[in-house]
Amino acid sequence: MKAMVYEGMKNIKVKEVPDPTIEKDDDIIVKVTSTAICGSDLHLIHGFIPNTKKGTVIGHETMGIVEEVGKDVQRVKKGQRVIVPFPVSCGHCWYCEHDLTSQCDNSNEYNEGGSYFGYSDTFGGYNGGQAEYLRVPYANFGPFAVPEELEDEKVLFLTDVLPTSYWGVDVGGVKENDTIVVLGCGPVGLNTMKWAALKGAKRIIGVDNIDYRLNHAKTYDGVEIINFGEHDDTGEYIKEITHGGADVVIDCVGMDGTMSNFEKIETLLKLQGGSKSAIEIASRCVRKGGTVVLVGVYGGRYNMFPLGDFFSRNITLKMGQCPAHIYVEPILKHIQEGKLDPTDIITHTLPLEEGEHAYKIFDKKKDNCIKVILKP
Ligand code: NAD
Ligand code: ZN
Repeated sequence: MKAMVYEGMKNIKVKEVPDPTIEKDDDIIVKVTSTAICGSDLHLIHGFIPNTKKGTVIGHETMGIVEEVGKDVQRVKKGQRVIVPFPVSCGHCWYCEHDLTSQCDNSNEYNEGGSYFGYSDTFGGYNGGQAEYLRVPYANFGPFAVPEELEDEKVLFLTDVLPTSYWGVDVGGVKENDTIVVLGCGPVGLNTMKWAALKGAKRIIGVDNIDYRLNHAKTYDGVEIINFGEHDDTGEYIKEITHGGADVVIDCVGMDGTMSNFEKIETLLKLQGGSKSAIEIASRCVRKGGTVVLVGVYGGRYNMFPLGDFFSRNITLKMGQCPAHIYVEPILKHIQEGKLDPTDIITHTLPLEEGEHAYKIFDKKKDNCIKVILKP
């Protein structure tokens, strides 16, 4: 089959690889109909995710038709249309039973965290779904059958972007009349703004430095935008205009890919600690006693982390990989009732064969790209 394959840092290719097969009795094979590229895939190709073996099939936002089922699978049947949440989760360990499917104990033999499709050996060593076929382990828990009347574009983001953005708002405790700052106007940030609005937030401020993405955020009712490139200290600026800071700041940036273009570690550290880094902006623009949620992915150690600022101002900090499974049903209901339309962020739909080009425009923010769907 054709698949998007990791060949080393900043080196991915669409290649022929062997088709996946049923390895355990509770596996299924999904014939992929749609698969999206995520900001998390960028961290991987930028070399920020350790232990990614050459030859790994990448991608974790995948849906399709069940092609084959292992003999112990009861949850889904051959021919059913399913979405596959990005964490690989057994469904019966302590973490899966306590709504933390993104930290499943059984799917990851190293126990560094949970497991995610197409996301390195550190995170489980499973192949991903930017391919013609995907092997889905623990199929009595993971895949969700979706209603026939909803096209792929309406349900594909149940795999990641929608639960992730919903989760940020949920664990951030966003409530009516709150002031919310969303750092990053990519697919995750944009949907975070939609959920915050549905929760009744009074003021929503979207921050980025890419005009076409800021302009997209501005099309949402009531969202204000700030270009962080236009302020020496965006955090202080937001604190001023919000009269003390936001109740909740949601970082939908994570490790900024442009950092990996700098050869010198000093430049990288300065940027990570500089007033333009997302964590730094967050630490300054949250109100005393407020909450910062890191939805954006971080790895490694951050010695410049402004711990003192968080401590002295009683800030609550939350973070992690989203336990996507637990939000699929409530989000699907929102989509069916027409309360949330996830399709506005789709700017490109391309054949899988054009995957390398798709990564380029999504990574470099070219061609007004917000979200790409690949069709095998
Ligand atoms: P993206 O790359 O499309 O968007 C990131 C945006 O942040 C870009 O528009 C970029 O210009 C902007 N940005 C960069 N530096 C900034 C700064 N200092 N302040 C404000 N904005 C800045 O990515 P995405 O697909 O929207 O994903 C966003 C983040 O969410 C990524 O880090 C991704 O790995 C992460 N993510 C986390 C989970 C989870 O479970 N926690 C799941 C999915 C994605
Ligand atoms: Zn993702």
